[in-house]
Amino acid sequence: MAFDQFLGNERVVAALRRMLQRGRVPHAMLFCGPRGIGRYTLAVMFAQAANCERMEDDFCGECATCLAIGKLRQPEPLIEQGLAERGESPDTATVERVPLILETHPDVWALVPDPVRRNRPVARPMLRMGQLRAAQRAAYFQPVAKRRIFILDSAETMRRDYSNIFLKILEEPPETATFILVAPRPEDLLPTIRSRAVTFRFGPVESQLMDEFLKERTELKAPERQLAAQLTSGSPGAALRINLEESARVRGEVVRLLELGVEGKSWSGVLEAVEQLWKSESDRFENVLELFYSALTDLLEFSCGFKGRIPRNPDLQGRLERLGRKLGPEQVRKMMESLDRLSAGLRRNINRQLSLDAAVLSWVNIRPDSLGGYAGRRQGDR
Ligand SMILES: [Zn+2]
Repeated sequence: MAFDQFLGNERVVAALRRMLQRGRVPHAMLFCGPRGIGRYTLAVMFAQAANCERMEDDFCGECATCLAIGKLRQPEPLIEQGLAERGESPDTATVERVPLILETHPDVWALVPDPVRRNRPVARPMLRMGQLRAAQRAAYFQPVAKRRIFILDSAETMRRDYSNIFLKILEEPPETATFILVAPRPEDLLPTIRSRAVTFRFGPVESQLMDEFLKERTELKAPERQLAAQLTSGSPGAALRINLEESARVRGEVVRLLELGVEGKSWSGVLEAVEQLWKSESDRFENVLELFYSALTDLLEFSCGFKGRIPRNPDLQGRLERLGRKLGPEQVRKMMESLDRLSAGLRRNINRQLSLDAAVLSWVNIRPDSLGGYAGRRQGDR
C-alpha cells in the first residue's frame, strides 16, 4: 500500500508528495474534511513515507519501518490493547497519568479521543491533557528513523484550554517533528493553531471511483452503491460503514421533525418527536446534527427552486420538495443558523436534548404565519 493506492483527493496527495521530495515538511498540518474521507489513513501514509527505508518516488510499504507504522491504520485493536493495559474503570488521575497512545513504531504516535473504558464509554471521548503533555515531551526526542510524527485524530475534541500546550510546541517547533491534526473543519480549532498549520481540505471522492470501490469491497447492488455514496457525500470509509435501512429510518425521523416544526401545529408533537429521535440516537448526537444539515441543505436548494440536481437524500426528495415550497431560502438559512449555534455549544458541554428542543421549536417561529399560533398557545398554557 502506497500513495498511489489512496482513493481520491489527488491534489492533496500530490502536494504531500512534493513536500517530501523537496525535504520541506511543515511542523504542523491540518487535515480537514468529513469523517471517513481518508484523512487519518493519509496521515499514517505520510508518516510511512517520511520514514521509509527505501523511499524513492513513493514509499515502499514493505520495509520494516513502513510495516510497523502501517499497523496504525487499524487503530481499534490498539485502542483495546491500550485500555486493557491501563486496567478496568480507571479514575481520572490514572487516565491522565497513563495516557492512551497508539505506537507501533517509536517515531510515530497516534493520539485518539480517549473513551476511558470500552464497556462503559464516557459520553464524549476527547483528547486529554495527559496525551498532549506526553506528545509535547516526546516531540523533542531525536527520531530513531527520520522524523517524529504525531497524528492527533479528532483534534476538535481537544479542550480549548489544553490547546495552549500545543501552541507552545508550535511556537518553537523541534526540527524533526511534525504534528498532523485531523479535524472536520479548520474553524474547529483555535485561530492561533490554525495559523501555524498548513491546511489541507479533503473533498468528496468522485462518484465513479466510489462506485468501483464499493463494488470491490461490498455486496451492495448498483442503486444501493449510488445511495451510499450520495448519503455519505463521497466518503469511502463512511460509505463502507453505513447501514442503509437504519439511515433511512433516522433520516425519515429528521424530516418528520422538520415537517412538524415548519407546520407548527403541535408543540407536544414536536417535543415528542425530538424525544424519540433522542432515545434512539443520543449516543451519536454529532451524526444526528449532520443529518439535519444534510436535510436542510437539500431544503435550501428546493426552496431556491433548484431543479435537476441530485439531492443528498434522494429517497426523501418528495417530502423535502414539498417542505421547500413552503419556505423561502432566508427561512431555511435561519434554521441552519440555529443548528450552527447548537453545534458551537457542543464544545461547552451544553445539555444536548434541551438544546435540540430549543432549536427545533425555534423553527416554528420562522414561518411568519405561525408566530401568532405560538404566542397564543403559550399564553393559553399559563
Ligand atoms: Zn518502506
